[in-house]
Amino acid sequence: MDRIVLKIIEQARSGEHLSRDEIAWLLSFPEESPESLLVVKEAKRLAWERCRGRAFVHAQIGLDSLRCPGNCRYCSFAQVNDSNSRECSVMDMDALLAFARLFSQEGANLISLMSTAALPFEKLLSFVAAARLVIDDHVILLVNGPDLSLEQAIELREAGADAAYHAVRLGEGYLTDLDPRRRVQTIENIQAAGLALMSGVEPLWRNAPEDELLDAIERQIGLRPVWTGCCSLTIAENCSIHGLKPASRSRARQVGAIIRLAAGSRIPVGGVGGVAWVDAGTDPRMRGRSSHHESLRRDMRETRRDLEKDGWLVAGQDESWAYCLRGVKPSAW
Ligand code: SF4
Repeated sequence: MDRIVLKIIEQARSGEHLSRDEIAWLLSFPEESPESLLVVKEAKRLAWERCRGRAFVHAQIGLDSLRCPGNCRYCSFAQVNDSNSRECSVMDMDALLAFARLFSQEGANLISLMSTAALPFEKLLSFVAAARLVIDDHVILLVNGPDLSLEQAIELREAGADAAYHAVRLGEGYLTDLDPRRRVQTIENIQAAGLALMSGVEPLWRNAPEDELLDAIERQIGLRPVWTGCCSLTIAENCSIHGLKPASRSRARQVGAIIRLAAGSRIPVGGVGGVAWVDAGTDPRMRGRSSHHESLRRDMRETRRDLEKDGWLVAGQDESWAYCLRGVKPSAW
């Protein structure tokens, strides 16, 4: 076992910051090496301790499949990937409310409403306001959508959103048509508006440029989102991206674990372990998900069971709300 890795783990245990060089050292090990497996194990332990063994089931509803000017080359909704014959859609309000009710009843801790950058902001706002009215007060309502001005972020919060997902993605500005500075500005607007931030390192591909990956990991520590993590690149069939291969699941897990070690207890949720997702509605990665209510209910129950099998206790909706949004540890923890 590498001695420097053992020393870095010891540092993380005692709550010390990791330097960029130390993060780079951890990244240099192959994902299945004993060193990386130890990093993952230690990160899970830290995440478990930070949430007192609680895990969170999150649900995401894809709202539309419009032709998106964001033009992320890996996304099937990007205008550049479009054949014009593709059918575009916007979910109707009744369908959205049915999904939102279902996830709330099935105990989701957080419901994310995901849109393309082409969905008119007023429409997104109306979806947020309507969903808020049908879900439990303690369910965290998150928006995963376009770049936002400060005024728009405030409007979303006033309509009932609690949180927003945003990230400067790997490849931003060259694999996408989005300006990295505008992404950063949006993150600042989200936080200034009083919305909790979810962020992450994505989409991870094999041999992603080291400097960019280090910047992305360090950005997570600097931003101090409530939730973080790492996700591999997924390339939908119609995408115009060549030469990039998705990182393996274990490489994404290793990067998530390194974020957790570097963040210590400064980021409450995620990194590696303790969060699982169930998805409904439109999907830019075209993974062939089902939107049938019965199968979604089954997915929710199986997801809870899988987390419990891994030794987690699934947090109640009021617990996750208090902990994630208020930073208050419920008395039972
Ligand atoms: S990933 Fe999001 S922003 Fe990028 S093209 Fe797809 S929908 Fe648009």
